Amino acid sequence: MVKEKRYYEILGVSPEATVAEIKKSYRKLALKFHPDKNPDGAEKFKEISQAFEVLSDPKKRQIYDEGGEQAIKEGGSSDSMFHNPMDIFDMFFGGGMGSRHRGPQRGRDTVHPLSVTLEELYNGATRKLNVTKSVICDKCEGRGGKAGSVTPCRTCRGTGVEVHIRQIGIGFVQQSQTTCSTCHGSKEMIDPKDRCKNCNGKKVVREKKLLVVEIDKGMGDNQTIRFSGEGDQEPGVEPGDIVIAIDEQPHEQFHRRKMDLIYSMSLSVSEALTGFRRIVKTLDKRSLVIEAKPGEVIKPDEFRCIPNEGMPRYKSPFEHGRLVIKFAIDFPDTLDLTICGKLRQLLPRDREDIIPDDAEHCDLHAFDPQRDFNKSYGGSGGGGSREAYMDDDGSDGPGPQRVQCGAQ
Ligand SMILES: [Zn+2]
Ligand SMILES: [Zn+2]
Repeated sequence: MVKEKRYYEILGVSPEATVAEIKKSYRKLALKFHPDKNPDGAEKFKEISQAFEVLSDPKKRQIYDEGGEQAIKEGGSSDSMFHNPMDIFDMFFGGGMGSRHRGPQRGRDTVHPLSVTLEELYNGATRKLNVTKSVICDKCEGRGGKAGSVTPCRTCRGTGVEVHIRQIGIGFVQQSQTTCSTCHGSKEMIDPKDRCKNCNGKKVVREKKLLVVEIDKGMGDNQTIRFSGEGDQEPGVEPGDIVIAIDEQPHEQFHRRKMDLIYSMSLSVSEALTGFRRIVKTLDKRSLVIEAKPGEVIKPDEFRCIPNEGMPRYKSPFEHGRLVIKFAIDFPDTLDLTICGKLRQLLPRDREDIIPDDAEHCDLHAFDPQRDFNKSYGGSGGGGSREAYMDDDGSDGPGPQRVQCGAQ
């Protein structure tokens, strides 16, 4: 038993969830609540990120399971407790911080989610996406000020940190470090009058960039499209990539399962028994005739498939998955008596029980197996002995022996 479930609930997984399930759920929720797509989702995005950070790390997950959120917050030093949600997201979809490169220091990838419809993934599409990124200021060429105006910070001597030494008793000193209060860790100083007006001494400016994203036929949910070297620029650092993460939108008619498309079709009892003809509009707007000939019976929850009418295969779009039709039969709730009479004559019956004189008549009540099997028995109705053996969990109690169904 886990102490608390909040993190599990945030990710919508059970406390027994595997790491793969946790990752899958994070992926889906993080795409949905990413601030790019959901400006009001910032708080939710942060919660998802924190829950994921704890549950995806076996050590932290164990601490959480045993001691709850309190234990997590006590366990780590404050800076190692949680990362910036955006960094977690970018690392998750971008594949880590510069891990793919050796050589010069490389900036992190920035990931943007992109909502894509099933039609676009079926037919392919070109999408334009406006992103904002940091670029090196061209006025000062990334120096932050006039040439020669940038000098090492005098307060920290260009180290970016201030060291404080405090005497605590005779012969003992305590040493602590803080970020330099003058240069705020940048290690440099620029005379305010020489500071670049374009970037305000920051060396980079934010710029809008239009990305043209090619969505290929057959691409899938979570698939990423990489724009190499288009990430944020920073002096002396090789820029990372911009990564577009596809967020496949649910479709009203079709449910995708890898390359297969599942379509739910409801038939009337008459159609199920005597044949039907229906049109299904494909994702490229063709009309397919779906039919059963008279005499062919479709049963409830029966599946049929049409080869080659599913999703195209990525990189090999002439190959397609299957279109799977799942049938549901709309039974009427009640039936007119005259129709009953007619049907009784028309439809075959192969069994008619002989009713003994002492047979007991009973009523059929509504029963929902999902809900009612787990419900405990109320005090009303039924004889005492009946409850005595219905209530137990299979062991033979006192009371009458349970009747074994079907086993003779
Ligand atoms: Zn400094
Ligand atoms: Zn500048």
